[in-house]
Amino acid sequence: MSELAVNGGTPVRSTPLPSVFNAAGRRFGDEEVAAAERVLRSGMLSATWGTEVRALEREFASLLGAGHSVACSSGTAALHLAVAAVNPEPGDEIITTPISDMGTVFPIIMQNAVPVFADVDLTTGSLDPAAVEAAITPRTKAVLAVHLFGKPAPIRELRALCDKHGLLLIEDCAQAYLAPVGDVYAGRVGDIGCFSLQQSKHISAGDGGLVITDDAALARRMRLFTDKGWPRDTDERTYLFLALNYRMTELTAAVTRVQLTRLAQVVDDRRTGAAKLTAGIGDLIGLLPPRDDGDHVYWQYPLLLDGNIHPWAAALTAEGVPCTPGYLTEPLYAAPAIRSKVTYGGSGFPLRDVEYPPGLCPNAETLINDRLVVLPWNENYSGADVDDIVTAIRKVHTALES
Ligand SMILES: *Cc1c(COP(=O)(O)O)cnc(C)c1O
Repeated sequence: MSELAVNGGTPVRSTPLPSVFNAAGRRFGDEEVAAAERVLRSGMLSATWGTEVRALEREFASLLGAGHSVACSSGTAALHLAVAAVNPEPGDEIITTPISDMGTVFPIIMQNAVPVFADVDLTTGSLDPAAVEAAITPRTKAVLAVHLFGKPAPIRELRALCDKHGLLLIEDCAQAYLAPVGDVYAGRVGDIGCFSLQQSKHISAGDGGLVITDDAALARRMRLFTDKGWPRDTDERTYLFLALNYRMTELTAAVTRVQLTRLAQVVDDRRTGAAKLTAGIGDLIGLLPPRDDGDHVYWQYPLLLDGNIHPWAAALTAEGVPCTPGYLTEPLYAAPAIRSKVTYGGSGFPLRDVEYPPGLCPNAETLINDRLVVLPWNENYSGADVDDIVTAIRKVHTALES
């Protein structure tokens, strides 16, 4: 066995893999350039009078089979639209997960509701429906589930739970474009599905967000929330409720419309590469590849180890295959904004009467501290790139397990 690169040996891989942070790992072509130019030359960059954002909304709704779509300025904004549509009273509760991007949680607090963190499944990192049910109180208004890394959460079980208790269900699909859930896509089981166009997602325009829903009233409320509550559909210059400006621009929409045409292939190519990796490491003891029931769309590729994730991840990164131990450094509830309630001035509002102690969600903490290693994934990995990743993982795992 050759010397590990972390100990001074030769790395498996000396040239960088394609990455979402450079052109090699993104599919921006002449069509995106033409789309951006078309908007610039039209002189109309705002969706209020332009046509691109409205066209994107129609195309996205149709791609996912949804009744309505509303575009906005980020994935976090999309989630804020969804929470605003739930319209919680101050202090009402929304149950969500401790393993996600903070964009899942801050919109709840911004709307003066309280995030209640339910624990996750120890293998997938997705919300455990039993933990969600146990967290329901008379103040619960909604459940906000995340399809982590591109693997659908148990959304049908959560749907049944929400129906039983009269709660709205929001799906955070930022990592899960076109992930099948039975005969529909993720985002179509909940009342609202939220998507992101940030740089690292399956498709991107730098930043941007989209929501889908079948409910016309929720859709209208979300559209108003992108536009200061201004009901442009009735031609009145008035402001119906407290809201912000979360509008998407025509430039973003024009680029995204082209990206949409590439999405199915991006997902296919990510799945093909991931299947090859899984086949190449499936026999290793003490390492669990992600479960795939034909439904994982691999925003990233999560691995489960028995422990020692930090030296393992450092060794793999040194081999030229970057990866992140734990995905997060801490569960979302341990961030100062939440645990120390750094919110509005010194008030702690709306978290004054809640505590988020260590150990709140033991499975999430075990995953982050001891089990999870996440590899960035990419649609542009060649077969040879995946072979290198397999070689590097086998080298590191064999060396560190013996
Ligand atoms: C990226 C992401 C967000 C936030 O999206 P932005 O566009 O970066 O605001 C929210 N939730 C999840 C699960 C994400 O991956």
